[in-house]
Formats: sequence, structure tokens, C-alpha cells
Amino acid sequence: MGGNTESGGATATARLPEVLAQARRITIKVGSALVVDAKGGVANAPWMAGLARDIAALVADGKNVVLVSSGAVALGRRHLGVTRPRLKLDEKQACAAAGQPRLMAAWDEAFQAVGLKSAQVLLTREDTEKRRRWLNARATVETLFELGCVPIVNENDTVVTEEIRYGDNDRLAARTAQLVKSEALVLLSDIDGLYTADPRNNPDAQHIAVVEKLDASIEAMAGGANASAGVGTGGMATKIAAARIAGSAGCATLIAFGAVVQPLSSLGGPEGARFTLFKPQASLSAAYKAWIAGTVVPAGKLMLDEGAARALHNGKSLLPSGIVEVTGSFDKGDSVSIVAPSGQEIARGIVEYSADDIRAIRGRGSRDIETILGYTSGDEVIHRDDMALI
Ligand code: GLU
Repeated sequence: MGGNTESGGATATARLPEVLAQARRITIKVGSALVVDAKGGVANAPWMAGLARDIAALVADGKNVVLVSSGAVALGRRHLGVTRPRLKLDEKQACAAAGQPRLMAAWDEAFQAVGLKSAQVLLTREDTEKRRRWLNARATVETLFELGCVPIVNENDTVVTEEIRYGDNDRLAARTAQLVKSEALVLLSDIDGLYTADPRNNPDAQHIAVVEKLDASIEAMAGGANASAGVGTGGMATKIAAARIAGSAGCATLIAFGAVVQPLSSLGGPEGARFTLFKPQASLSAAYKAWIAGTVVPAGKLMLDEGAARALHNGKSLLPSGIVEVTGSFDKGDSVSIVAPSGQEIARGIVEYSADDIRAIRGRGSRDIETILGYTSGDEVIHRDDMALI
């Protein structure tokens, strides 16, 4: 759905860089400097329309796209007539409160013109770091995808305090990419990637096309180049921090020049604009499984019968029929330990049902779930994608 581009502006995604052409999910981050006209302090509608056309082409190609957009504070400033260059936190929050609806209205118009619906998702750092909230946010975004929407993410600036805010949307975008399991994160910037030194005052600065491994020598390059990016907050340092977060979650990061009419379609092909590609440090599913296995304390235990334990080793999901006993008290979305009849832990995973509900359906066929519980969250108690074998 949604590939209807009356303007004919949808570009062939075949010309995209390989990493974007291959991706099933893409997170795109745009800074205030691109979204807000620096002189007038109003939304840069022609630029937004161009990016919406690029996104429509990706969606028409069957990809899910999340847009992380800054610009609330910059738009709110103008609306409220706040002209001081430096703002206190509460002033920023007031500006964000006034600017966010304007930002969304401008995006909504841009997406409507290409036949797409958009939806606002405001996140805080806690939402992306506390597992229960993370899973909730993930479920919402998944549903928005199913409904054919482009989720537009920003930090929930009005409720976060200095200590708990991201402050820059680069890292928020990396966490968003991880949340939705994107294979690629595109940071559209006022520079076409990472350089060995600041290219504005160093004629010998070399553009870096590919970063295979994000090590200390790469971190050291973040100081100069792009350190003072336009009206936004992040510089190259937060972009590299974002690439690190995304990379360890199995997502590639592209830093590309954004200030052209259709920035994504300008990237592909032999004549395409250059960019820096940070390769991911692990595959998407390996990184997700490592997160399940390593960073989450199990809230309970599921004891299996021999048949189910074997099925898990053969790559199957966990069905209620193979569960013998449930220990602990946990909710849907919690992580549990999965134990073989020998007593040995064989896997960890994220459950689709609460402990009480699993007690009610254990040993039964999946087709009975709805009759027993009055609802169903699917045939599996733990889907194999949400399970890490140990
Ligand atoms: N969330 C802020 C806004 O919408 C922007 C933070 C940033 O520029 O990275 O204005």
C-alpha cells in the first residue's frame, strides 16, 4: 500500500546503495537543519516533500520505513517568538511542545501528497532501555507498519529531564533502528560522511567510504569534522555513537548529505553522491539473540518435555503442548529461562503469554488456546525469532 505517487517522483529503488536495496526495514534520521528553514524558522516543505517521495519509493518496494525527525524545538521557537540563542531546559521543552504538532502537520502534508499515512511516536530514553516499555513501543510500531503507516519518531522532549534525555536525535535514531530491527540506519547530515579531519579547514582531509570496524582511530576523527552541525544538536561524535549502537544491534549506518531535494535517490549508482557506510558488527538476528541471552534477567522458568526440547534444538518455536511446568510470575513480553527435563537451561526467550496463562494452556494444543484463555497471542508461547539457544 501507499506506493501511489501522483507526482511520479518515486525513484527506482534499484539504484539505491546495496545496503539500502537489501534492507527490509530502514530508519532514516533527519536533523533540524534540514527540516527547518534556517532563516524563516518554518518547515522546509519542498525538502520534506522530496524526502517523502524517496520514502514512498522505498515503501512501494515493500520496505518498512521509520523516520526520526528533529525540528520541534526550532519550529516552536519561531511560533512562540523565543529568539535567545541558548535555551534553558524548560524553555526548550516549551518550544518542543509548541513545535511538535507543527512538525507533524508538515510531515503529514508531505506524506499525504505521496499517498502515505504518518503517525507520531514520541519516545524517551527509558522507553528504549526498559524492556517492558521497549516491547510495548515495538508492538505499536509493528502495528503501524501493518496499517501502512510511516511512524515518525522524536524524543518526547516535554517530559524528559536533563539527566534522562537523549538530547540528540542521532542516538535516539540508533535505538529506534534497534527497536524495529532495521538493517540500515541513514543519518542525513550537512556533510557527506566521515573525514579523516575537518574538511572545512583541512584540504588534506580524506573522505572515508566504508568503516569496517568502529575502533578508537575512527572515534578520534569525530572531533573536528561536522562538530558544529547547523541548527541541530548532534555533531559527528553523536553520529559515531549512533553508528556504534546500531552496529552492535546488527544494523548498518550510512552518514549522507541530506540537503538535496531527494537525498536518498541521489545516493545510488555509479554517479551517486558519496556517503560513509559503517558496517554492522554482527548479523541482525545474532545481535538480537545475544541481547535476549545476555542482557535480560529471566523472570521465570518453563520446564519442557523431551520432545519440545528436541524441537527447539531443531530450530522450532516453543508451543504450549511441550511445556510441563511453569515457575515464577511474569507477564507477556518478559524473558524466561527454558529448561530441559534434565534440569539444564537450554534457551532463553521472550514469552507471548503470562505465567498464569501458560499454566492454563501448558500441555494443550495451540488450537485450544483461544477457547481456554478467551484470546490468543498466536500459536507459539515463544516464537523462535524471540529465542536464543544456550
Ligand atoms: N528532539 C529535538 C527537536 O525535535 C532535536 C534534538 C536534535 O536535534 O537532535 O527539536
